Amino acid sequence: MNLTKIIIGNWKMNGSSSDGLNQVKKIAENVTNAKVCHKIVICPPFTLLREMEPILSHAGISIGGQDCHFSTNGPYTGDISAEMLVDQGCKFVILGHSERRVAYSENDQKVRMKANEAIRSGLNVIVCVGEDQFHRNSGKALDFVSSQIDASLPDVFSDHQLIIAYEPVWAIGFGRTPSLIEIQEMHEMIESKVKSANIKKIYGGSVTKDNAREIMSNPAVDGVLVGGASLKCKSFWPIIEAANEI
Ligand code: PEP
Repeated sequence: MNLTKIIIGNWKMNGSSSDGLNQVKKIAENVTNAKVCHKIVICPPFTLLREMEPILSHAGISIGGQDCHFSTNGPYTGDISAEMLVDQGCKFVILGHSERRVAYSENDQKVRMKANEAIRSGLNVIVCVGEDQFHRNSGKALDFVSSQIDASLPDVFSDHQLIIAYEPVWAIGFGRTPSLIEIQEMHEMIESKVKSANIKKIYGGSVTKDNAREIMSNPAVDGVLVGGASLKCKSFWPIIEAANEI
């Protein structure tokens, strides 16, 4: 079995010009040499998009933003529009990450507005959903994520423009992951809601070289969204290699 997976690195607010470029040069070199057939996307901070884009695109790796505004332009100090991301060479944008939902009170409606603007601008959107510890413990994880799916997805899109990242909040950055059965059950619920097997459903939350292969081996999992382990080539590359071994 060698199904094409999608592997996305979310650098969050990390990466300097010198070390960041150094890391992506190594990743790009490895991807080129190993003739990787999986889809790789790296989402660095906005400040690194311009410099990284040519290095990554040369290796067939796409670049993406970590957020965008729901308006095309205007008086939104500190924000970045979807068109600006496209202008920097982005093909993807992460929306509704739990860190933004929590720290910036981004609700489902705002995520949907952003997703609509991103699709209109020509970006592929990675919409993050996922329950917190309370909803997992109380047996309401499926219901919680189901309501996020109802309210956060863009109104109009083609299947290939949307990736849904299931990221349980309690797993992100904590070194804990749901069981394989829990991941599968969530992905199957999402697929039944969106009524399309062509919309990619990926898992995120403490993915490392040690669990990537097992998680991606499940046919219900189309790939992974990787935070901490995507920052360095030595921890990100083995995750890409894991996809090659499936
Ligand atoms: C994330 O922030 O999207 C993420 C999955 O982080 P980590 O891999 O560090 O848990």
